Amino acid sequence: MAKRKGTPKQKHIPLRTCIACRETKPKRELTRVVLVPEQGLVIDATGKVNGRGAYVCSRRVCWDQAIKRGALARALRARLAQEDIAMLEAYANSIEEYEVEAELGSSTKASDEQSTT
Ligand SMILES: [Zn+2]
Repeated sequence: MAKRKGTPKQKHIPLRTCIACRETKPKRELTRVVLVPEQGLVIDATGKVNGRGAYVCSRRVCWDQAIKRGALARALRARLAQEDIAMLEAYANSIEEYEVEAELGSSTKASDEQSTT
């Protein structure tokens, strides 16, 4: 599907820390949540929203901890509004469904072999 440009180089992968489990992971494996002054909390899929952001990895348990145990509020240094919590919980629920599906499917490593010239 996706086209790959050029030759694969050793690329620097930006790392971020999940505010719930404190694991450091590649940025794309985490979801950025941003507190936007006039909008409230936003799930930032593009990574370009301005505001105070926090990263949570794509695991349901981490979202539970971020929302219910206050890790996110602490990271953002803000109190979460009820509607923000509802929005986050809805997002967390969608992750769970996704993960169950992913676990049922086969996890084959297709790109394990390296092509040598
Ligand atoms: Zn995590």
